[in-house]
Amino acid sequence: MAAINQVIDLSVEDGVAVITSNHPPVNALSAIVRDGLTAAFDKAIADASVKAVVLTCAGRTFFAGADISEFGKPPKGASLHSLLDMMENAPKPVVAAIHGTSLGGGFETALVCHYRVAVPSAKVGLPEVKLGLLAGAGGTQRLPRLVGAAKALDMVTSGVPVSAKAAVSMGLVDELVPEGADLRAAGVAFARRVLADKRPLTKVRDKSVAGATPELFAEFRKNNAKAFRGFEAPEASIKCIEAAANLPFDEGKKFERDEFMKLVAGVQSQAQRYMFFAERQAAKIDGLPEGTATRKIARVGIIGAGTMGGGIAMNFLNRGIAVTIIETQQAALDRGTAVIRKNYENTAAKGRMTPDDVETRMAALSPSLELKSLADADLIIEAVFENMAIKKEIFAKLDAIAKPGAILASNTSYLNVDEIAEATKRPQDVVGMHFFSPANVMKLLEVVRGAKTAPQVLATAMEVGKTIGKVAVVSGVCHGFIGNRMLAQRQAQATALILEGAMPWDVDRVAYDFGWPMGPFQMSDLAGLDIGWSKEASKGATIRERLCELDRRGQKTAAGFYDYDAKRNRTHPALVEKLILDFAAEKGIRRRKIEDQEILERLVYPMINEGAKILAEGIAQRASDIDVVWIYGYGWPVYRGGPMFYADTVGAGEVVAALERHQGKLGDGFEIAPLLRQTAKDGKRFTGG
Ligand code: NAD
Repeated sequence: MAAINQVIDLSVEDGVAVITSNHPPVNALSAIVRDGLTAAFDKAIADASVKAVVLTCAGRTFFAGADISEFGKPPKGASLHSLLDMMENAPKPVVAAIHGTSLGGGFETALVCHYRVAVPSAKVGLPEVKLGLLAGAGGTQRLPRLVGAAKALDMVTSGVPVSAKAAVSMGLVDELVPEGADLRAAGVAFARRVLADKRPLTKVRDKSVAGATPELFAEFRKNNAKAFRGFEAPEASIKCIEAAANLPFDEGKKFERDEFMKLVAGVQSQAQRYMFFAERQAAKIDGLPEGTATRKIARVGIIGAGTMGGGIAMNFLNRGIAVTIIETQQAALDRGTAVIRKNYENTAAKGRMTPDDVETRMAALSPSLELKSLADADLIIEAVFENMAIKKEIFAKLDAIAKPGAILASNTSYLNVDEIAEATKRPQDVVGMHFFSPANVMKLLEVVRGAKTAPQVLATAMEVGKTIGKVAVVSGVCHGFIGNRMLAQRQAQATALILEGAMPWDVDRVAYDFGWPMGPFQMSDLAGLDIGWSKEASKGATIRERLCELDRRGQKTAAGFYDYDAKRNRTHPALVEKLILDFAAEKGIRRRKIEDQEILERLVYPMINEGAKILAEGIAQRASDIDVVWIYGYGWPVYRGGPMFYADTVGAGEVVAALERHQGKLGDGFEIAPLLRQTAKDGKRFTGG
């Protein structure tokens, strides 16, 4: 083997050149790799004794993609485009031997090879759309030429890779190499067969795209309109596949390049790439001693089998972790258990789980009426009513029951975790684990670090989050933690706006157009307007109370701010409009026309302002953690990168100016955060961007 550079080797074995990349951890196509490959292919092509070339990778994977840390920086090293052109135009067959994950630029590299072999566990695909991009090195042009327009549309706009087995049936991979066999040797043997059989040197670029009818594209756009709403990259990818079908290869490639350049320079892909790193960063806990060990969690106890308790339990059952779930009444326990079973059965009915899977999960669940049953639990998560007295009572009892070292967690949405911890003699073992509804679906977990929470306990709670597939973010103790504290700002402005002149559907439309899955009033209707409301105590003091008094308690009564039909379609009732107008008149408010821009600024900027306070107080470890909370917990559109990244795109100065314009309408005690002012004054950003 001859080293071409630190990461690329070239060896020639009896007329077949083997080019090997060894650039851990994932053979990303960094400048050094491109440089080495360019030199190696130059050499192999020039060497008359070489009749065929095999391209393979050492380590755990074939080229897993571009080096995204190079994006947005001045180009360096050999260009991937020139390298790929050289490979495709090589006058001798080039065979890619693939293992691991051949994704993005890595897969585009495989696509310029004349043949591809792969082990069954390999995966191939173009995931760029997940970073707000598209495959910019011929991927959108070559893929449809191999698999046809329909499959290419699915693969490119979903970004989901396919298995090597599926790739063979789609014509993406020519041959499977048995798992565990010597892939390099198999690649060489395949190349020898190509030579012996005098197989033609076919290039993917010379093929045409099958099935590319205008109807296919129209239908695809229509069927995915909701999923792609607001995102630029899926539409750009669709246009590239149309170009692949309708234009000569080189023109299609130029089209793809132009679309890629637009995306890579745009705010959406900046936001999505930023989020990619933000999510990984969130797992890092500031101020934790190096090498903090975690505790083993094999048995979990959950107190309360209501909306949250049941959903939380499912997360653990899904991972094969035994759960004991507690209620005080048999009926509530039965109801909670039945809901879990029903959820699993629904999943099985959709074919996403077998009936056996349902039974295995249910068998790992032990329902109980005795708190004592939690004596051997390693982690206990309390999810009873949001009431401090009840929670304190439960934690005091747990203190007497739980084994030493057990982690005692509360799923409280707002309450003071330190106060809950003080109900025990082991506050170091108490932590907040705030799940989001539905808890078996939503990805976010806020891990609330109490004043006395032990490093080990915090680290374990974060690790548990990862184990059950959540994105965990550390929050300090404050009312509502990171997410709900900021949400309260949006809710307050939404309520004020409908008194001042907007209607709930105006506010919801602006929120939806911004990219949220639903607006604040739709959300209230979904959650139920009667949370914390009782008929006896109701004084009609708010619009919400008045709606409840009319038994308009949200979607569950088919009426709230909206009317709902059996299919949950919404309409705007005149009655609600009148109720709002009357209420405003009673309060002596002179309603005015409110522009959409004001609605947007008042929904979003006070949240940013609160985010700045949360940051200054150290409640969030870093601005990007706030963004992770909002993307994964509240459906903030990922292409806007979360509230703090969004603040940076608008500019802190503009946010301050708008808040000053609206000052006086923002509510008593509203104050512009000193950190926001300072950031504006210094012309700085909250996030690295
Ligand atoms: P819920 O009313 O649906 O469920 C609470 C359950 O706890 C009930 O089934 C009740 O019977 C049971 N319970 C009450 N006291 C008990 C006790 N002493 N021992 C055992 N069981 C007891 O409420 P929920 O929506 O599941 O909320 C539970 C907690 O989760 C609250 O602290 C809430 O703030 C928090 N939370 C709720 C949401 C949400 O969207 N619903 C989201 C995040 C966090």
